[in-house]
Amino acid sequence: MARVLPLDLLDLDDSLTDEERQIRAVVRQVVDDRVRPHVAGWYERGQAPVRELALEFGRLGLLGMHLSGYGCAGASAVAYGLACLELEAGDSGVRSLVSVQGSLAMYAIWRYGSEEQKQRWLPSMAAGEAIGCFGLTEPDHGSDPASMTTRARRDGTDWVLSGTKMWITNAPVADVAVVWARTEAGIQGFVVPMGSPGVAAREIRQKLSLRASATGELVLDEVRLPAEAALPEGTGLRAPLSCLTEARFGIVWGALGAARECLHVALDYAVGREQFGRPIAGFQLTQAKLADMAVELQKGYLLALHLGRLADAGRLRPEQVSVGKLNNVREALAIARQCRTILGANGVSGEYPVLRHANNLESVLTYEGTAEIHQLVIGQRLTGLSAFA
Ligand code: FAD
Repeated sequence: MARVLPLDLLDLDDSLTDEERQIRAVVRQVVDDRVRPHVAGWYERGQAPVRELALEFGRLGLLGMHLSGYGCAGASAVAYGLACLELEAGDSGVRSLVSVQGSLAMYAIWRYGSEEQKQRWLPSMAAGEAIGCFGLTEPDHGSDPASMTTRARRDGTDWVLSGTKMWITNAPVADVAVVWARTEAGIQGFVVPMGSPGVAAREIRQKLSLRASATGELVLDEVRLPAEAALPEGTGLRAPLSCLTEARFGIVWGALGAARECLHVALDYAVGREQFGRPIAGFQLTQAKLADMAVELQKGYLLALHLGRLADAGRLRPEQVSVGKLNNVREALAIARQCRTILGANGVSGEYPVLRHANNLESVLTYEGTAEIHQLVIGQRLTGLSAFA
């Protein structure tokens, strides 16, 4: 009997427009050409050609692709989601580059910045000529950013920033950072050129996950900025949280890409690998694993598509994104681990992408709100009670 790919089981492609399918094909191609042949080496060395990739993705309109104006593509949320899925089928670190650039750094400037800030940064960021990062997490404040200790004080009309941000994607290669700091009036966002005196980015080297992504510590030592560096509308914790909602939406889709890749590899492996005189794909226990994974992948895709259509209708709420992030990352990680078992010893080899994806998904489970934090968000919505503190 002819084989069907897991994501073709329910004919879900029928739910996409021609334009969405075309965008997906373009991104799939660039991943095939520019990522897939090299990513195992990047992962092993813990270094990816981030600048080259950014320029390539910028040329294709993938950076800030769901934003409009300022050189951004103005694509639909579903098209953006499909792009994230294809990028993460290559590697979660590659998708992280695009997410942090477009959904965190660019979105913050696009949504909360002055016209001058937008003109200064968005066109070059959309083109991949300038790389952005987003500094919210601190060494002692991750899930609870409201307790951040990075300070911004007034000195005349200037601002002076001091503090340390931790685990900041793209920081070691960035040209600009969107930094969140506490002022006397509350939390405030700033656009910080990385060349400003007092800014230092140190790469975090001992990462066993997301190794094809540059992650750093961002140290701000009495960084003096003009008044115009503040994001005029970027005040209060709701501002960075809204950026996280944007980025989480991409993760809802992206995680499915990692899972799809693992499942494709495991399927091919199971059909080709013989034990006890027959393909391991023919054993019922293997088929149970494969069927369950295909079902979860389809369910995750339906969920992503539903959230995407809500986003395109302007009706997507943050707790709905939490449902998607919680489910799709958790299931993608479970799929990646299960696929690893099907590959046996080869599953731990870098010659196959499966353990790389599983290791990456450990970071994806934690960043942009841990699984537990999303459970609490959903729990709060269900009960009306906050269990955060
Ligand atoms: P903690 O907050 O210390 O949490 C530890 C554990 O305690 C978790 O399991 C958590 O769920 C649990 N926990 C905490 N509070 C509660 C509670 N109230 N109830 C129940 N359980 C709780 N941050 C940025 O700002 N910018 C970036 O670009 C960025 N990139 C990242 C890239 C990577 C590779 C990684 C790993 C992280 C990145 N982060 C970034 C940081 C990330 O967002 C944080 O790691 C995340 O928010 C969790 O914070 P934490 O690691 O301090 O864990």
